[in-house]
Amino acid sequence: MKALQYRTIGLAPEIVEIPDPEPGPGQVLVKVTAAGLCRSDLSLMRMTAQQLMFPLPMTLGHEGVGTVAALGEGATGVTVGDQVAVYGPWGCGACPACAAGRENYCPHARRLGIRSPGLGAPGALAQYLLVDDARHLIPCAGLDPVAAVSLTDAGLTPYHAVKWALPALAPGSTAAVIGVGGLGHIAIQLLRALTPARVVALDVNEGKLALAREVGAHETLVSDESAAPAIRALTSGLGAAAVFDFVGVEATGRIAVASAAAEARVLNVGLGGGAMPMGFLLVPPGMSAYAPYWGTRGDLIEVIALAEAGAITVRTETYPLDEAPLAYERLDAGKVHGRAVILPNG
Ligand code: NAD
Ligand code: ZN
Ligand code: ZN
Repeated sequence: MKALQYRTIGLAPEIVEIPDPEPGPGQVLVKVTAAGLCRSDLSLMRMTAQQLMFPLPMTLGHEGVGTVAALGEGATGVTVGDQVAVYGPWGCGACPACAAGRENYCPHARRLGIRSPGLGAPGALAQYLLVDDARHLIPCAGLDPVAAVSLTDAGLTPYHAVKWALPALAPGSTAAVIGVGGLGHIAIQLLRALTPARVVALDVNEGKLALAREVGAHETLVSDESAAPAIRALTSGLGAAAVFDFVGVEATGRIAVASAAAEARVLNVGLGGGAMPMGFLLVPPGMSAYAPYWGTRGDLIEVIALAEAGAITVRTETYPLDEAPLAYERLDAGKVHGRAVILPNG
């Protein structure tokens, strides 16, 4: 089969021909219909050999939707032909976190060598994907695969984040979204669908601010030193009750805290490598900070249900597998609006 692999540190990923995988006991083979590209892949491809905690080559892609092609011995719970979305943060399956569906916070996965597809295990940017257990497959028969695939990360991650912030987002409150990319443009829709908050979106790109308005942001601001004072001005000096930083650089961390209200919930989702200020008198009284990772299995079921209900729509641009390297270049250059989705069998 064809796959897009990250093979050599510092070099661009390459299309290669590799053997078709075969499902072992308990595993499920999925024929991939659609696979999404995430900025985290670009971060991964900028890591040094020391930072990268798994061997190369590795097939990329941690957002996948496809159809069940074959079941390994003893695998149950799905049927050949089912359309499924892949839950990516694989955990041990046995600890209290995993039992609660919070596999994204499994404390044992790393020690046990359990890796997520596209983040250590072979990923979805290939014609076939091996899934370790049927519990990591969520049915999504009612959705178009291209529209559904990025729910598994660009939808799931902001959904998990917004759920944590819900207690702060009372009527009359304001939520700020920094970075209107794959994750951010869904976060805006989730905030509109799940809360009464006024949504203010920040980006450095005018086209992304236009997308923010199209998907429901009430206000948009250029993300520079003027942004935090502008958010205060929009909120009678109070600040935003929740701030979602989907960039995570030093500058956005400062904006996030400077625009936060008393008792605000502030989230660092982006992998930009910056630090957010934290400390008494450095942040508003009662502020909480959270660095969420991906989402729970229950969250994915819920975010798929929200999409099926028509409450959120992922903006996509599609490419054949051969053009995936080009799609990564466009993502890197900030040219993708919404999510780039690859069709490995298209
Ligand atoms: P993306 O490239 O689609 O979107 C990033 C957006 O941020 C773009 O619209 C860009 O114009 C904007 N931006 C860049 N610099 C900015 C600044 N200084 N101020 C405001 N906006 C700015 O990326 P994505 O795939 O949506 O991912 C967003 C971030 O979330 C990445 O860092 C990614 O690695 C991370 N991520 C984290 C998790 C998690 O579990 N914590 C999961 C998925 C992705
Ligand atoms: Zn991701
Ligand atoms: Zn576990």
